[in-house]
Amino acid sequence: MLDGAKMSRLPPRPDLDWTDDGTPEDRRAGDIYFSRQSGLEETRLVFLKGCGLPERWAGKARFTIGELGFGTGLNFLAAWELWRANRPGPEAWLHFVSFEGFPLDREDAARALSAWPELGDLPGKLLDRWPERALGVQRQVWPEEGVTLTLHTGDIMETLPSSRFLADAWFLDGFSPAKNPEMWDKSLWPMVHQRCMDGVSIGTFTVAGFVRRGLSEAGFNVAKVEGFGRKRERLEVRLEDPPAPEADPYGLRSPARAPDKVRIVGAGIAGACLARTFLERGLEVEVLEAGDGPAREASGNPLGLVMPRLDAGDTAQARLLIGAYLRARQFYSGRPGVHETDVLQRPKVDREAERIAKVLADPPLGLENLEAAASGQLHKRALIVEPAVLVESLLDGAVLRTGRLFTLEDLDPDVPTILAAGQGADALLPWLGLAGRLGQVELAEVGVEAPASAIASGHYALALGKKRLWGATFEAWDGRVPEPSDAAREQNMAALETLDPYWRQSVKAAPLTSRAGVRATTADRLPLIGAVPDEVRAREVFDGVRHGKTVEADAPLIDGLYLAGGYGSRGFTWAPWAGEILAGQLLGEPAPASGPELEAVSPMRLILRALKRGG
Ligand code: SAM
Repeated sequence: MLDGAKMSRLPPRPDLDWTDDGTPEDRRAGDIYFSRQSGLEETRLVFLKGCGLPERWAGKARFTIGELGFGTGLNFLAAWELWRANRPGPEAWLHFVSFEGFPLDREDAARALSAWPELGDLPGKLLDRWPERALGVQRQVWPEEGVTLTLHTGDIMETLPSSRFLADAWFLDGFSPAKNPEMWDKSLWPMVHQRCMDGVSIGTFTVAGFVRRGLSEAGFNVAKVEGFGRKRERLEVRLEDPPAPEADPYGLRSPARAPDKVRIVGAGIAGACLARTFLERGLEVEVLEAGDGPAREASGNPLGLVMPRLDAGDTAQARLLIGAYLRARQFYSGRPGVHETDVLQRPKVDREAERIAKVLADPPLGLENLEAAASGQLHKRALIVEPAVLVESLLDGAVLRTGRLFTLEDLDPDVPTILAAGQGADALLPWLGLAGRLGQVELAEVGVEAPASAIASGHYALALGKKRLWGATFEAWDGRVPEPSDAAREQNMAALETLDPYWRQSVKAAPLTSRAGVRATTADRLPLIGAVPDEVRAREVFDGVRHGKTVEADAPLIDGLYLAGGYGSRGFTWAPWAGEILAGQLLGEPAPASGPELEAVSPMRLILRALKRGG
């Protein structure tokens, strides 16, 4: 367990010290992260050579490395450097999954990595995307190099069991086993075993007896080989029998064969983020749109806001919302039509003021991201997007077709189809229970240019250049083509008056336009991301759940059908995260979220939950 009497929602910093020659050391463990003289050479021998790299990834379309102990990221960069020099093909991907309990601040990582000028531009690339200080899973992607980093932050006893991936190689790199026994505890090895691909290779610097015994007991073959420098020996670990797959009740498993083409239904922000993600992975992408062009329906507002939702409690759902937000920010940053902004969040009711106070007292995100403001909290580095510009750029390279998926009989068994059609999914899969909610916003063009800025309090108001946009209403939808209404406009005007009377004044003379759209919402307000089950068969297979039984079975799925929707009013936040999740699942990559998070957004959850309630 991580020590510290009071656990805060931010992961603890390491107790860092620097030796005279600039070597980073952890006082808590009384050990160094690496030797400044020979750290890189040692990494290359113990982990890269120890795992048979680069030979082991030759000819592979994807290769996954797991690591216990991310530290400064040196091992990751050394693997990346080797990948650059020996990438098996222009479309091959290296996925690096690492675990860290005491994340370094970016400045400390920069200081540590400055010891390795021979790594060229790689430390800079990592430092530009240095993970935020937050518990949970963060994914960084470097599409131009075919590299992803998935960092699980938190105590290893919590993060390792909740991770979902299969590794081709593992680097075991805790501090010395005598000083950091939690990272070498024998309870970890069955979990590592469960996360091994056929033919896995594992490297580590230690030959400690209890580590060797633990690994052997978990089924690994352990061999001592010649070590590095003062360490005479190190271990190379292999596995004869890959683990048997576990039951998959939520339909999270990857298909046996990774596709080279996907079809996406819907060209709004959900479809566009999926398209970009799959295009970057090198797949052919076809996008089917029923309307008269991209970003016309719910994603068609002239401006959109991407801001975090921070809950007062540290639940799986709270982490998932943070993970999705951080992914969205990373994904959109630097793209056309994307502008950084602060968002002043004002509490609308007392309950919200209490929540904000709790969040500020024990924030789940580092203080570069939020601070207390006189009348609420200030979210820093949030985004205002211009959906039309953004969506068009994301779809660049996809084949756009006009059309509609009328029935599930139209599915092509060879081309996975992802339904990203918002409320449109309701007609094909009524059991999802998607509820349409009408949302209206008001737009004004004023004479004064303003930098990006935003105020939120249930409703929100955005300024960008001469555009001012505010809303949105959240009303029941009767199924008809959405039309703006005077009643909704009145509601929005009243909301603007409360948000900021000055703004209300400044748009008084400007001509207004209104826009209404339908947003698809789910009963639990979480999105639907994942494989689509065959509802009738799933109810049969899992019938025992109604009687309180645990059913160890795979979810029966509709072959080749996936869903990305039910985003409610958070479409721009969920969409990039959903892209990574579905790319991960379809292509057999590591999941960019924890198992409980994937379950919480899986379509299958709806059926299991209904059965548990006896329905
Ligand atoms: N691979 C790293 C690199 O390239 O810089 C060096 C890793 S360092 C030897 C060991 C790492 O394990 C430290 O970053 C430490 O914070 C982490 N660690 C130690 N105990 C942990 C625990 N209980 N849970 C998660 N991480 C832990």
